Amino acid sequence: MDLVFATHNQHKVEEVKLLLPKNIKILSLNDIGCIDEIPETANTLEGNAQLKVNFVTENYGYNCFADDTGLLVDILNGAPGVLSARYAGEQKNTEENIEKLLNELNDKIIRKAHFKTCIALNIEKKQLMFTGIVEGEITDKRFGDKGFGYDPIFKPNGFNETFAELSLTIKNKISHRGKAIQKLITYLKNC
Ligand code: IMP
Repeated sequence: MDLVFATHNQHKVEEVKLLLPKNIKILSLNDIGCIDEIPETANTLEGNAQLKVNFVTENYGYNCFADDTGLLVDILNGAPGVLSARYAGEQKNTEENIEKLLNELNDKIIRKAHFKTCIALNIEKKQLMFTGIVEGEITDKRFGDKGFGYDPIFKPNGFNETFAELSLTIKNKISHRGKAIQKLITYLKNC
């Protein structure tokens, strides 16, 4: 079965290819000739994942899945949430995003937060949603240099290190994205 992963990020595609059963052929947006930047205008992560899969299924006719991820901080009422990539502005600058979040939390003692990944799957005229969450807290400064995005300031519950200090193997086992992808894989293996 051909299955499109609605992303332009080749790195994400290669990662998922390794995990999926061999009878599923993963295609990227580039593979199907889709060069459009698919609008992510919903105000929830679920909504954005749905916008992306529906765009591909409606315009290209493929079975497809798409993900959307955000960091949600309790005391900021779930911000940055859907705006995680562009929290400090449209330039999507990671350092500025982290700086802004640390400033917002400057005087806050309770720093509970979670990452959430939503994966929408359109398959044989059905739509399904798979969700992965990792709970943790925002540190008061950066620790570690691995990973990307908010990793240097997110400490998952049960660990004394941030995601940027943990190995990718450990991060993938406990992370929001890892959990959501595992649910997707379990579903596809039983298809
Ligand atoms: P995306 O939906 O995977 O593109 O993620 C949106 C934004 O959330 C990214 O630009 C990052 O700022 C942040 N983000 C997503 N996943 C992670 C992660 O695993 N670690 C740190 N930040 C992340």
